[in-house]
Amino acid sequence: MFNKILIANRGEIACRVIKTARRMGVATVAVYSDADRDALHVRMADEAIHIGPPPARESYLLGERILAAALTTHADAIHPGYGFLSENAAFARTCAEQGVVFIGPPTPAIEAMGSKSAAKRIMEEAGVPLVPGYHGDDQDPALLRACAEEMGYPVLLKATAGGGGKGMRQVWSSEEFDEALAAARRESLSSFGDDNMLVEKYLTKPRHVEFQVFCDNAGNGIYLAERDCSVQRRHQKVIEEAPAPGMSDALRQEMGDSAVKAAQAIDYRGAGTVEFLLDEDGTFYFMEMNTRLQVEHPVTEMITGQDLVEWQLLIASGEPLPLAQEEVRIHGHAFEARIYAEDPDNDFLPVTGNLAFLQPPEESTHVRVDTGVRQGDEISVFYDPMIAKLIVWDESRERALQRLASALAEYRIGGTVTNLDFLYNLATSRPFVEAEVDTGFIDKHRELIFHERHQDLERELPLAALALLLYKQQHDGPGSSVDPWSPWRSSNAWRLNEPHTHRLTLHCHQQDHEIEVEQRHSLYIVHAAGRETQLQGELVGDILHMEVEGHRQRGTLARTHDGFTLYLPAGACHFHEVLPDTGEADAPGAGAGLAAPMNGTIVALLAEVGGAVEADTPLLVMEAMKMEHTIRAPTAGKVASFFYQPGDLVDGGAELLDFTADEE
Ligand code: ADP
Repeated sequence: MFNKILIANRGEIACRVIKTARRMGVATVAVYSDADRDALHVRMADEAIHIGPPPARESYLLGERILAAALTTHADAIHPGYGFLSENAAFARTCAEQGVVFIGPPTPAIEAMGSKSAAKRIMEEAGVPLVPGYHGDDQDPALLRACAEEMGYPVLLKATAGGGGKGMRQVWSSEEFDEALAAARRESLSSFGDDNMLVEKYLTKPRHVEFQVFCDNAGNGIYLAERDCSVQRRHQKVIEEAPAPGMSDALRQEMGDSAVKAAQAIDYRGAGTVEFLLDEDGTFYFMEMNTRLQVEHPVTEMITGQDLVEWQLLIASGEPLPLAQEEVRIHGHAFEARIYAEDPDNDFLPVTGNLAFLQPPEESTHVRVDTGVRQGDEISVFYDPMIAKLIVWDESRERALQRLASALAEYRIGGTVTNLDFLYNLATSRPFVEAEVDTGFIDKHRELIFHERHQDLERELPLAALALLLYKQQHDGPGSSVDPWSPWRSSNAWRLNEPHTHRLTLHCHQQDHEIEVEQRHSLYIVHAAGRETQLQGELVGDILHMEVEGHRQRGTLARTHDGFTLYLPAGACHFHEVLPDTGEADAPGAGAGLAAPMNGTIVALLAEVGGAVEADTPLLVMEAMKMEHTIRAPTAGKVASFFYQPGDLVDGGAELLDFTADEE
């Protein structure tokens, strides 16, 4: 076993690797950029080496500097984590040349899977089933378009060098093809330095089912069951689970064998993941192989009782596989929810911010939190906006899902927008509870997950109003925080100067709602959304006990960066009070759509200055937080001028262009 390893990564995965290394008695070296000087992974490691300024390409992507850090600190091996250099064949080769073990597969295996097209050719030869499509070298747009037409729409364009859903575009008709190809190529070029594309038949209702494989140096390979990662936004996973619901032993074996065959076709070593699309009829197709540890590996650990990082270290140091295929046991069910600083109501746009308050649920045999941040840390533009991975386990899917919902409701994050309430609503939605998952899940069940139906509003508004009143009475009264027995803490109407009828404006479901609450002793009569609701309630700490027309329920009230989230058995409701004197503070200004959504770089100007454009025409593309954002014409009109050129850095909120709308 190694004496010391260097972790060429940051955040939660660096912390995750350090934990196992420490348990195994292996010393650790972290690397850090200026932005991460005080980061948790740096604090946890035995040693840490500074490698450069915050942008990843000037620090975490600089192979030479990282290797130099390993040599200086006499590390025997480098664990690349995921992302950054984890699938960089040149880096793996240089490590080997310098006598430092790369904890991952041999260089040719990374190369073989580095291009999605080349990988497909290898898998085709090995007899692994593929999604129908074109994966050739000829990149003539006319040829790609012809392939799409021949296959029939919808098709999916994918960057052959792609990953993380970048450089990928669905195309539903021939009119959309050229714009989609250009956008996918641009995104691919800026993310991967290469704009080769492949065209695939777009399956409309598949599941994403992937197999965890491991191979040792003697060429033995096994699979550690599968993960279902169908629930995605922007082709990126948000909730993963293991095992895949409804997976039969026979199909698991068939897909698992296929996965091991895929790995062995490229002489694989160590941990890898073979991703498949599983169609409704049980047909499965190879999608790609990731030659590294996956973000979602913990769900596999929870159901197999194995530590995959330990397996990686064992195999990289020459040991055989710890288990044979028939010794792998699956026990119970696990979920992972990825908690991001992002705004689900704004197309899941990543956001930045300071984690002013951070209180994860308590960890136990059922609840695990993998994170790389602490209270007070910054979610910056430089790196992925993931705050933590919440992993839960229990004997059955149903029970594990209950654990997930309650752990999400206990998670407290202040200082930035998060997807916590979105995850909660997803986890408690009927189709998810019933495991009716496929990769279009979020789009298909949008109204349900986002609680956009009128009945949700009717149900949630009175409860939100009650919660807010009780919260205010608990917090605003004199002496409220000092004397628990003070009458000011009471939520009853006898308080001297408190009016018996309260009027409030709540912003909820993207709208302001005028609400009137009449308070008669312990009874509250709420007029909201055109309805009268009678309810009673009590707020004890952050637990809200309430009774609505004989139905008693318990909820949790969480303060968030901009208001409150009320977690109820039927879903979460996010709201804030609109104060009369300030009005709606965050109403978008007239030109809001033409401002940079966040700090980033201008990638392309797509419209001619002075030329007429239709509403919704793409005008400008910028890149921020590793994603492309297209700024479109709000109406028909023309661009009077662009304020920036490609390559320019812009601040979030900056006006990008001057747009003149056509006269009506
Ligand atoms: P990346 O490497 O960028 O993550 P993948 O090839 O792994 O890209 O695909 C990511 C996701 O995109 C898949 O999990 C799936 O939801 C969707 N996807 C990929 N290929 C297809 C396809 N041919 N039809 C339908 N959905 C697809």
